[in-house]
Amino acid sequence: KANRKFHPDDSVIDVDGVKIGGGNFAVIAGPCSIESEDQITYCAQRVKAAGASLLRGGAFKPRTSPYSFQGMRSEGLDLLKLARRATGAPIVTEIMNTEHLPLFENVDLIQVGARNMQNFELLKAVGRQKKPVLLKRGLANTLEEFVMSAEYIMAEGNENVILCERGIRTFETSMRNTLDLAGVVMLHKMTHLPVVVDPSHACGHAWMVPELAKAAVAAGADGLMIEVHNNPAKAKCDGAQSLTPDQFDELMQFIGKEVEFFGKKL
Ligand code: PEP
Ligand code: MN
Repeated sequence: KANRKFHPDDSVIDVDGVKIGGGNFAVIAGPCSIESEDQITYCAQRVKAAGASLLRGGAFKPRTSPYSFQGMRSEGLDLLKLARRATGAPIVTEIMNTEHLPLFENVDLIQVGARNMQNFELLKAVGRQKKPVLLKRGLANTLEEFVMSAEYIMAEGNENVILCERGIRTFETSMRNTLDLAGVVMLHKMTHLPVVVDPSHACGHAWMVPELAKAAVAAGADGLMIEVHNNPAKAKCDGAQSLTPDQFDELMQFIGKEVEFFGKKL
């Protein structure tokens, strides 16, 4: 179902009125984690004003250490919904467990994170419901495995899948991951699904994010996912890679023109 061979036309995924793919470009922005009502609402207002069409914010966080901030969980989801009400921007947030699905009923785009890309039971479960799914590439997964994971979701009846390249593990240690932009080009040949690029998790350094975001647009990405925090130095998660609202605003002015240059609609 994901194979380009049998579906020559690009898929356009509709996330509560925001279209992604087939010439429609969308920017997903917001903090790594929801930390308080003020924090998520302020970030939401700033990213929306800068031109983002979808709001992200993690409530269930897949942290390497069990002693790191684990997210505000269902309380965080409630705050994210308040931020949606304040801005009108559809919301994107990560699910880690099939048992949490009922909590995600009011979420507009369900994210399956890199660490769960091959959690096949979770893929089947999000495939059995109707909300669009943002599937992130696993830390060490091939493009073939990535597309097969999308296939798991689609095989259950949900064909609204958006792929997200977020960097992969290589021998390089100066960056958190290595952004695979060639993979974006290859994915567009392999599949008709939209491909979004997350430069924030790919490099781990806020100062690198703008250049990688621009390069992603040039490589044909259908959208971007960018972490933006009101106070990166104090962020509970991923502050080092988070842009300030002002930095995001400046980047979006360029991205708007670049997307238009490449003949797409933001
Ligand atoms: C995230 O988007 O906050 C996240 C945890 O990303 P990834 O699954 O790509 O590491
Ligand atoms: Mn993060």
